[in-house]
Amino acid sequence: AATPLGHYVIPIVNKLQDIFAQLGSQSTIELPQVAVVGSQSSGKSSVLEALVGRDFLPRGNDICTRRPLVLQLVQKKRKGDGTDEEWGEFLHLPGKKFFDFNQIRWEIQAETEREAGGNKGVSDKQIRLKIFSPNVLDITLVDLPGLTKVPVGDQPSDIEARIRTMIMSYIKLQSCLILAVTPANSDLANSDALQMAGIADPDGYRTIGVITKLDIMDRGTDARNFLLGKVIPLRLGYVGVVNRSQEDILLNRSIKDALIAEEKFFRSRPVYNDIAERCGVPQLAKKLNQILVQHIKTVLPGLKSRISAALVSVAKEHASYGEITESKAGQGALLLNILSKYSDAFSSMIEGKNEEMSTS
Ligand code: GDP
Ligand code: MG
Repeated sequence: AATPLGHYVIPIVNKLQDIFAQLGSQSTIELPQVAVVGSQSSGKSSVLEALVGRDFLPRGNDICTRRPLVLQLVQKKRKGDGTDEEWGEFLHLPGKKFFDFNQIRWEIQAETEREAGGNKGVSDKQIRLKIFSPNVLDITLVDLPGLTKVPVGDQPSDIEARIRTMIMSYIKLQSCLILAVTPANSDLANSDALQMAGIADPDGYRTIGVITKLDIMDRGTDARNFLLGKVIPLRLGYVGVVNRSQEDILLNRSIKDALIAEEKFFRSRPVYNDIAERCGVPQLAKKLNQILVQHIKTVLPGLKSRISAALVSVAKEHASYGEITESKAGQGALLLNILSKYSDAFSSMIEGKNEEMSTS
């Protein structure tokens, strides 16, 4: 579960992010969030979904994530009667609550097509979604299109460069935590994710390595040395996970069952037994929250001084408008004054004194 500090600090940050999104682009305040990077089909959306604990993201072998999805998780207090309401809300559909998570997935797909077309096109225009649930940590996650080399469908010939630029625009921010997702059934040392994260965060202060697909590694191989950081060292370390396979998705296997299967997987593999803190989605969630809280603690003083500076300049501008009666009592007195002048003028008039009525 979220630490007490995380519980109070992160909702404030989320709120600020919402306000800046509404105000438009040039927010001068960089706020912490978590973005996933990796090659296409490495399991980025699967990891995010497992962290949220619900099915709602388009996933698959093909390119599914074609616009950045900014996902704000909001922890809601559990109800006394045990009925846990969970719902989603999109920024582009204000006031509409989605209780059916399949409909959230359809809306993401529909909104993707509205902007990026129906044929594998990619757009850098964000989709913003909030999920309210008692079962999540308070955190903001960004699902990004994956790195791809060969253009398909409506993709332009420079698709690789475009996606790199889009990913970079998120992960270059000092306040962005990077989940660098690498599938264990590929050449781990050649990871696109770790390569890009290495450019954006050369000192590795904000990159967490995530190794997916541990279940489909070559027989006789394992990711132990990689998880231990012996292949590519990473300051914040690695977590290995097992998400649902395409078959699991087609068979409608639930996330809950997948988490149970994941736990069983790690328990039954002796190579992973003594590194349990580096294994599994729950460990990843725990690690993320700890790092995020630490991160917010370090950026908070700078954030505060920038807001104070902005406040001072607004106060100056306000003062330059001259005297404005602010208190209730002051406003009341002013109103009374106007009324009595009005009534004096009114009585003079009906007494035939030929005066003009005035409220001034
Ligand atoms: P993304 O393109 O990086 O967002 O990848 P997706 O999350 O869409 O996953 C791509 C495919 O890999 C899907 O068919 C998933 O079911 C599958 N997949 C993801 N993670 C795992 C895993 O840990 N094990 C197995 N067997 N399949 C996985
Ligand atoms: Mg995806």
